[in-house]
Amino acid sequence: MRKILIIILLLTACAKRVKKYYIVKKKKFKEPVLKVLIIENKNPLWIGGTNVFYAVDRKGKRYKFFANQRLKIKRESKRGAVYLEGKRTNLNLPVRFYTKGKGYLLVQGKRYRGNVMIDPFLRVINEVKMEDYLKSVVPLEIGSPFLSNFEALKAQAVCARSYALRKYLERKNNFFHLYGDIRDQVYGGRDAEREITDLAVKLTKGEVVLYRNEIALTLFHSTCGGRTAYFDEAFPGKEFIPYLKSVRCNFHGKDLCKNSPYYRWERRFSVREFKELLSKNISDMVSINIRPQDIIDFRISERGPSGRVKEIRVKTRKGTFDFKGYEIRKLLKKGRNLPSNYFSFKKRGKNVIIIGRGFGHGVGLCQYGALALAKKGVNYERILKFYYSGTKIKKIY
Ligand SMILES: [Zn+2]
Repeated sequence: MRKILIIILLLTACAKRVKKYYIVKKKKFKEPVLKVLIIENKNPLWIGGTNVFYAVDRKGKRYKFFANQRLKIKRESKRGAVYLEGKRTNLNLPVRFYTKGKGYLLVQGKRYRGNVMIDPFLRVINEVKMEDYLKSVVPLEIGSPFLSNFEALKAQAVCARSYALRKYLERKNNFFHLYGDIRDQVYGGRDAEREITDLAVKLTKGEVVLYRNEIALTLFHSTCGGRTAYFDEAFPGKEFIPYLKSVRCNFHGKDLCKNSPYYRWERRFSVREFKELLSKNISDMVSINIRPQDIIDFRISERGPSGRVKEIRVKTRKGTFDFKGYEIRKLLKKGRNLPSNYFSFKKRGKNVIIIGRGFGHGVGLCQYGALALAKKGVNYERILKFYYSGTKIKKIY
């Protein structure tokens, strides 16, 4: 009986590890239309079009508007209200807006490809084709698009496509598939597009990173500081992912991301300042009021195999608290979170000095490293395989 139970448990664990929808079968994939959440919690909203545009309500009734017309959408009743030139229209939310031909929709003055859906909570969803979405994501995510690092732009395009496709499959039945900000990937619509990154997207159309026919979780970050992190170092409690393991971001003895302003960094505090900062941040995080004089001890209680801080233990008069993963960067937040959890600290006289490396979670592709590899003439497939061990690149549509 016990044996059977163990087998059942193992089987369910395996089924959970590789969700069937990540698997790329022989059948052809079609370019998906992504639902990207671009705005939430803004009231009122302004919608327009660069050409004639249309609105369709829940009952399928269609309304036509002209390029110079702007609609003001306010949440004042359950269904929301749509105003045109100061007058309330018959339109009730949810509403889907679209254009025909070459025009773009305008949301808060910004141009968007595809359709825009607004629900009664004034959440704005852009329904956009994957390749159009990527044209906006790649320049915003990679930051410095030049011809000299073109292969890195292509690597970023494949990376962003794989990430988005995986989320799309995972959240297929949800109200939206992707956040248009750092919660997933930064997306800015048509205005963010650049010619050079458009080309990187076009030349890699439909290509994704696969690991054993599974669409890889292609996490990336700005700067690793010399060595990338294991997935479970940055995301404690999560499973081990074989292709998200630590690699040396190094080429012929030189660290690839050393041109990043965050390759090495330092934070200095007086002991008093440090205790004030800790007590404030801990109070915010654990909802217990901790004063600077309550802090007894602060230590790195665990490091991961790549050298990153996995756990910090703070002893206070009100209890001992352990912080893991992203919490560590919040624990030492001063205005902004700590750039990474790849650091050591020392006490020198009346000062505490934190000496750190890298920016971001450190898992997967290091963007500064990828840019440097591209400059050295390494092609995008090799860049991707360098950071995602044991993967392959495949065109699936
Ligand atoms: Zn790096």
